[in-house]
Amino acid sequence: MNVFHQSRRKLTLYYSLIMAVFLVVLIFFVHQSMEWSMESEQARELVETAGRIAGGQEYLLQHPDLLEDAEDWRTSSDRLFFYVFDPDGEPIHFSRASSQLEPFVLDVISRWDTEAGEVAVMSDQGKRRHVRVMMTAQPMMEGGEQVAIVYVGKDVTAMYNGLEKATYSLAALAILALAVAAGVGHVLAGEAIVPLIEAYEKQRQFAADASHELRTPLSVVMASADLLDNDPSITSPFLKQVISDVRDEVKKMTKLVSDLLFVARSDNQALKVKLSKVDLAAAADQTIRLMQPLADKKKISLLREGEASLVAKLDEQKVKQLLLILVDNAVKYTPEGGKVTVRVASPAAGKIRLETEDTGIGISETDKERIFDRFFRVDKARSREMGGNGLGLAIAQEIVNLHGGSINVESELGKGTKFIVTLKG
Ligand code: ADP
Repeated sequence: MNVFHQSRRKLTLYYSLIMAVFLVVLIFFVHQSMEWSMESEQARELVETAGRIAGGQEYLLQHPDLLEDAEDWRTSSDRLFFYVFDPDGEPIHFSRASSQLEPFVLDVISRWDTEAGEVAVMSDQGKRRHVRVMMTAQPMMEGGEQVAIVYVGKDVTAMYNGLEKATYSLAALAILALAVAAGVGHVLAGEAIVPLIEAYEKQRQFAADASHELRTPLSVVMASADLLDNDPSITSPFLKQVISDVRDEVKKMTKLVSDLLFVARSDNQALKVKLSKVDLAAAADQTIRLMQPLADKKKISLLREGEASLVAKLDEQKVKQLLLILVDNAVKYTPEGGKVTVRVASPAAGKIRLETEDTGIGISETDKERIFDRFFRVDKARSREMGGNGLGLAIAQEIVNLHGGSINVESELGKGTKFIVTLKG
């Protein structure tokens, strides 16, 4: 079931990420278009004003006596200002910018290199506030010679501040929208996986029922095969071989069925641990005794290291199953003449460390990540031949999880493998 919750979380995350990217792009474009539309309007007004001032100034230059009462075409808005300079840089006429702004404006004019008719926005990160002015310059020509230059500007700080505020409130709205979208996404993703969970549940129930139902007929077949095996009237070597093959196959099938049942039950959280005081060291010794004939067959030396006795609260049956899986694998995947070591230790109070180490074929880096998956086998044919079904390590992991522990693997191809199980004592 965890996998469904994980995909629900993932779906919500992806959905929110897409929404976040979309909202960031939207805010960026809204900001840009608002800035562009405001700037272009202001710039148009500025260029028009510059033209008007240049026209008026031309008239004044021709009628210098009018200069004293030339107030009438001064700008009405106090945000607008202009300066007319003669070619030597001496001011002829001006409508000054505010005293706070003027030093900055004059500084901009002294460094002016924008082309005639172009509008530029200059900003000054002052001590008290960030000011912005929009300015344009228009040279006045007479007979091919520049007689004056008009600089017209406007304090657009308020406009940009307004734009900034609008963008911030838009961003705040976007965060709200994102939170709503994430919530809606989570609910929708939950709705979307409901049929999946139902289908999965049916499948699991089917596997559990099927394996449960198969157990009885299989034990009947096994008992019958045993009976035939012990029947003295059957003397034909061929028939004896057939009976032995049937027994082998039924044994494999019984194991597969009980493994399947375990896995199906673990999905349903129907597996419970029955904790009791268990001597893990004694359980390891018992597993070694069980595996000894198989090890002897392959001339593998089975060794036990570590504590002689280690009592802890564990589920005895499941821990024995875990030991059997790990030692069985170690023997299975170790060539003749190899060595398998089982170690039981308590590195700290309340901690148990169980290790199985072999000198076998090893596991590659890429396979290491998948060996705990159900039905995963590095070499299917080889595993089947040895009676494996790919469920062993998945069950081992489940048993470790049920005990709140962890299982890790260290391995090198061709050198050997070490499984390390850590459990709470
Ligand atoms: P199987 O029933 O095939 O052994 P498992 O789940 O127990 O299935 O193991 C999965 C796969 O991991 C095996 O098929 C094998 O390829 C690999 N494996 C497990 N234990 C070892 C080991 N000790 N040494 C090398 N390979 C191993």
